[in-house]
Amino acid sequence: MKELLITVFYLSGAFAPGFDAQGISKIQPCAWYEPIQKATGVKVRIHKFIKRKHFAPELQRLEDWTKLSYRTFAWMSRQKAKGIRMAFLPPLVDPLGNRYMAGLAQLCKPLNGLAVVNAQEVRSNGSDGIYPSTVIATHELGHLVGAEHLDTEFNVMHSQAAFYSSTQKLGIAQKSINQMKRCLTANGFYKRGK
Ligand SMILES: [Zn+2]
Repeated sequence: MKELLITVFYLSGAFAPGFDAQGISKIQPCAWYEPIQKATGVKVRIHKFIKRKHFAPELQRLEDWTKLSYRTFAWMSRQKAKGIRMAFLPPLVDPLGNRYMAGLAQLCKPLNGLAVVNAQEVRSNGSDGIYPSTVIATHELGHLVGAEHLDTEFNVMHSQAAFYSSTQKLGIAQKSINQMKRCLTANGFYKRGK
């Protein structure tokens, strides 16, 4: 059966406080993609883990972040990236120093999609950032394999999942699992011997 290949690009930097030389590996690599793997039955394989240090002075506006992610992807495509490309960038920081986390992803592009996630170990209010970062990564991967927002219950694909994940553990709803399986089926996964 076809595996879901992911090229991970991790950008460390001043606005990813708490991320040291270990980087995102502090977030157990399987912790963010394992729920998707479990829900869909499709094995996820990290094709490459590319890590770079971010030296840009500030990342205060969404435009900066978007520009940076475009540059990131242009750079990644020269690095023999394969499959889905997921970039973990530093959080957005407003002029008061508050750090925000968000993500962006294409919908149902399990063979060659792009997603951006910003991650941090500690939130600017001092609370845990690892679980919310993990949930954002799972959420964006969910979009890439076909899951849409589901705001009728607390779950990983909720449009405010990052917010809710600071107070509770979130699972994947059956409706999202069905959407992911439909997308993966349409893209040739689940075929035997391939
Ligand atoms: Zn979303």
